Amino acid sequence: MEEVLDSFELIEAVQIVNSKSHTLELNVDAVRRILEADNIKDRNVVVVSIAGSLRKGKSFLLNFFLKYLKAQYKSHDVTDWIGQNGDELEGFSWRGGRHPDTIGIWIWSEIFTYDPPNDDGIAIILMDTQGIFDNQSSMKDCISTFAISMLLSSVQCYNIMRCIQEDDLQYLQLFMEYARLAVDGSDETNEKVFQNLLFLIRDWPFSYDNAYGYSEEYVKEVLAENDKQTPEMCQLRQSIESTFEQVSAFLMPHPGKSVAQEKDFKGKLEDIDDEFVKYVKILIPSILAPENLKVKQINGENVRAAEFVKYLESYVETFSG
Ligand code: GDP
Ligand code: MG
Repeated sequence: MEEVLDSFELIEAVQIVNSKSHTLELNVDAVRRILEADNIKDRNVVVVSIAGSLRKGKSFLLNFFLKYLKAQYKSHDVTDWIGQNGDELEGFSWRGGRHPDTIGIWIWSEIFTYDPPNDDGIAIILMDTQGIFDNQSSMKDCISTFAISMLLSSVQCYNIMRCIQEDDLQYLQLFMEYARLAVDGSDETNEKVFQNLLFLIRDWPFSYDNAYGYSEEYVKEVLAENDKQTPEMCQLRQSIESTFEQVSAFLMPHPGKSVAQEKDFKGKLEDIDDEFVKYVKILIPSILAPENLKVKQINGENVRAAEFVKYLESYVETFSG
């Protein structure tokens, strides 16, 4: 039986933005119902979003975020948050999902809450994007989706397979430029408009060079300027560093053959490599443990859930034009 939020609402991933015949549409009713609820609307939001190209394990990993959120903020016990052997992995639909070719943004309909001692309450929003760089969506759809995700999140995970390549950075720059236009109407400002950018590297093959887990060294390497680069390549690196408050990278091990290749894989823990699970257990609390929560800010002000709805409406309008 599916979990029920109150007497009639399902707890599920809800598509809040979609692109129909290449225009963005906002599911206003769903967004309001979820974020303007009495216990939510006045809380500061923490928004963790994941974006990147198709079928690279984004939704799969996000369901572990969900497990942690449930354990930490509902059951208030994180001892066994990762679950038991035999549990199937549920939540955001993964393995292509039911609608693999619809582009858009999803949020989990249950908003997790936390009340820090002596501070305003927090609402945690988990966001998934789908369809970026698949062959159905236009470049404009991709840019808009990624830019909205970046504008709304306090932690933007950029999911990349194996290692960061120059074109991953070029895309990022394009999204940043678009997103900045929506914020201040110009791409000239030098202010750090966004918060945390986390390069989430999947199937990291070079653990003998850089160990799994957070790697400052790897970020430095990727963003370093040198005299072999063209002026554009240097400028690209500077703009990434000047746009985000914090840039980090987390190197994930390969999850094993079952996860990557088996048709009947259901996400059971015993079918996932121990090494992968070990780093999932490091990654997720580093973002979602109470002491690590990053409240979303726009122009230096905390964003409350009701305001988040307004921003979302205005960004969708901007990018629909
Ligand atoms: P998304 O399109 O990026 O959201 O990808 P999904 O989460 O739907 O996963 C697509 C496929 O990748 C599934 O078959 C997963 O089992 C598999 N997968 C999940 N995580 C990883 C990973 O870290 N590495 C590899 N190679 N495959 C993964
Ligand atoms: Mg997905």
